[in-house]
Amino acid sequence: MAVTRAGILILANRSIGAEAIQALLEVDYNVYQASDIDSAVRILESQNIDFAMFDASENTEAIYELIANIKHSSRYHHIMVGITHDEMNDAVSERFIRGGAGYTLSKPINPAFLKMLVDNTTTTYIDDRNEAENKRLEELSRFNIIADTISIGLIIISGEEASVIEHISENSLKLLGYETGQDRERLKDSVFEKLVYEKDRSVLRKNLARIRKDNEPVRFMARLRNRNGQYLPYSVSIKNVIVVLGIPKYYLVISPSEVMGSGDEEGLKEEIAAYRMKARLDPLTGIYNKNTFFEETTRILRENTSREYLVSVWDIDRFKAINEMFGAEAGDRIIMEFADYLKARLDPEVSTYGRIESDHFVTCCSAGFHRKIENDIKRMLEAKEKWHSLDYTVYMHVGMYRLEPGETDIVVACDRATMALQAIKDSFINRINYFTREMRDSLIVEQQIVRDSEAALLNREFIVFYQPIVDSKTKAIVAAEALVRWRKPGGAFVSPGVFIPTFEKNGFVSRLDRYVWEEVCAFQARRISEGKRTVPISVNFSRVDFYNSNLYEDLISIVNKYGLDHRHIKVEVTESAYMDQPLELMNIMNKFRSSGYQVLMDDFGSGFSSLNMLKDFEVDILKIDMKFMDSIDTSERAGNILYSIIQMAKIINMQIVAEGVETVNQYELLKNMDCDCIQGYYFFKPLMESDFVDKLDNYSSEMSTEALGKGYRILLLSSGNSAETELSEIMKNEADITIAESCEEAQRYLEKHFGIVNLIILDFDRSYEDADRFARILLHKEFYIRIPVILFASNEIKAKAAHYIKDGFLDAVSRPFNDIVLRNRLVRTIEYYAVASERHSIEIIGQSV
Ligand code: C2E
Ligand code: MG
Ligand code: MG
Repeated sequence: MAVTRAGILILANRSIGAEAIQALLEVDYNVYQASDIDSAVRILESQNIDFAMFDASENTEAIYELIANIKHSSRYHHIMVGITHDEMNDAVSERFIRGGAGYTLSKPINPAFLKMLVDNTTTTYIDDRNEAENKRLEELSRFNIIADTISIGLIIISGEEASVIEHISENSLKLLGYETGQDRERLKDSVFEKLVYEKDRSVLRKNLARIRKDNEPVRFMARLRNRNGQYLPYSVSIKNVIVVLGIPKYYLVISPSEVMGSGDEEGLKEEIAAYRMKARLDPLTGIYNKNTFFEETTRILRENTSREYLVSVWDIDRFKAINEMFGAEAGDRIIMEFADYLKARLDPEVSTYGRIESDHFVTCCSAGFHRKIENDIKRMLEAKEKWHSLDYTVYMHVGMYRLEPGETDIVVACDRATMALQAIKDSFINRINYFTREMRDSLIVEQQIVRDSEAALLNREFIVFYQPIVDSKTKAIVAAEALVRWRKPGGAFVSPGVFIPTFEKNGFVSRLDRYVWEEVCAFQARRISEGKRTVPISVNFSRVDFYNSNLYEDLISIVNKYGLDHRHIKVEVTESAYMDQPLELMNIMNKFRSSGYQVLMDDFGSGFSSLNMLKDFEVDILKIDMKFMDSIDTSERAGNILYSIIQMAKIINMQIVAEGVETVNQYELLKNMDCDCIQGYYFFKPLMESDFVDKLDNYSSEMSTEALGKGYRILLLSSGNSAETELSEIMKNEADITIAESCEEAQRYLEKHFGIVNLIILDFDRSYEDADRFARILLHKEFYIRIPVILFASNEIKAKAAHYIKDGFLDAVSRPFNDIVLRNRLVRTIEYYAVASERHSIEIIGQSV
């Protein structure tokens, strides 16, 4: 809403010191002075007045009447009126207050006091009015919903002269043939008259003036411009005008009209016919809109029940990005050009086509015709044939459904084609996909799942499993995750991957989640009452849960009911839920965090904007997606990325859990990268409650001692068999030594055992070439920096390899060795490095961030 200065009217003779008052008030207000009642009325009519001060010492009765008039007029009653009087006393004051004055003052007037009074009252007044305005807006949105369901549209314009569009409802846009998104932005704040046919503008102005004066509804015809620049007749009624801070706001209701009451009848019939046609066509492209496509296609399918047809749903890749990169107009152009492409390709005798919405199109062709154009379509989908004018490669995806002869339900056909499209939407390779028997089967399975779910909940067929999470250093169980399974009456377990996505579609997942929380809390409470050990258990939220704004309260009430608190439950939210509705999610998660609950970001790294997200969304624990585990011990890149994520998480004080850890290599590697916790089959699968209890009670002592036993592992790159004996002799009590004869061998060994190697020794004396090559590899991989490297090098070779020391290798030792010195040196290096590398890695991350 525009901020305007409040207007103040002062009606007084000179004796009250009006100049001084004016000077003071002028700073913040528009001040108007009147010397008699007539001129005061003129000012009231012509200016925006919020506050008036009348001196009633003379013409007392006339002023009394003026106040009554002001207070009874819908246009002026908001004005705050104050009264001064030469002989102000309680009786005078009371009379005027009863008559509608807001306050009274005795003379002489202290201007500063008056200013304070005006300041306070106008602020309160303005606040009150804002509140009223908000209420009106609320009403308005209710009105909009109604208006949108019937065929009228609401437009709010404001301003005395060139009225500006303040609000244009969705339905108005549709009625005028505009797009709802960008067009709305474009039209908002533009001058309304520009939409009105020139000859009809005077009618508009007259009616605006009339309603301002009488505040009675008016109704008239006007031609309004649609998106294609055509003027079509509309009936316009203005129900209401509201003056907010002196600015009139008009509520216009428009509906398409077939008769012009006055003026130019020429060409009107044509315009109306065009209008009717327009309602059937998509305004931007001129091809069928969704409804017309359905109607027309149904008619054709019914008339040709012996023919086979193909329905295709088309989608332009990254259309949003195109709009953002090249602008909305280029986006519109692409849409029009694709419609042109369809027009040019599809034979109207045997095909129909239309635009469903935004960048989605639909076509229906006879199977015979489809075969003819199939190759063209493929080329077009792969962007081998250019159909548009943009200097950018536009790709598309299409989903298809084959209608058997006699099948006429086009809506179902479109749904199935859309399903086929969804299945390949993210694929770069498959751009065309047919609805298959498997998809049909999966639809049936889905229906069964939905059908059985209610009963399953009642029969307690959903079983909560617990997967322990261990500390990577001690291997002790420090937490667990609750994972639900469905035990079918026959005893078979169905995994959540099968039913959760279906339950997310129909919303049932929220009830299932509530059931899981209840089970988990009951379990924790039982353990506590038995005096047994508990660990925090995390529960999963589905993205659907965030549509419930009481999510926090709902979980907390269950936690409280079982006498638990934030130490017993953690909450897991999957990365993709954040993409769905970031604001709701952050609000709710912050509530959990501020009452002490730890929040985990699940499946971190599986989506696209993971890192970006951490900027806005504070979580306590990152759970790294399982996908990373596949390649960390084989791919240098994956390893480096993971290592950087862990370091970054440490810097911003987050804990890291790695999920899906299945092998000893993955575990060792993660431990060395300083990952805090491990969840995965290598330690535990998700366990039935009884097994989980058993592990909680017995496991921790079983294994954590093993982690304490320390034998160093040294990888030595050297040729000649004496090397091993030489070093083993020296280190026989503290280390296992693995010898690699070549760079490749060393590399292979390290890839597999990276996590457990404590020291690498490169023997430059005995295999210079290989040692040199391997040294360079070591410098390349960021996470190898954690392993200390020592060179064995005689004095002249030491000079040649000196730059390695500079690059970060720890030390060079020359033969002949003094056994005791060398042993101490190696052991100290290993131990010292455990500390030093910590610092070193932080520096590296610091630089790359
Ligand atoms: P999630 O939350 O990411 O859970 C981890 C999944 O990884 C679990 O699959 C777990 O069994 C599996 N997993 C753990 N370690 C390994 C491993 O080493 N190797 C392999 N291959 N898999 C491992 P699960 O139990 O099938 O659950 C799948 C997903 O279903 C969960 O992913 C979660 O998103 C959802 N889910 C499970 N229970 C619930 C629930 O109660 N509520 C909601 N909303 N979602 C749930
Ligand atoms: Mg999870
Ligand atoms: Mg996960």
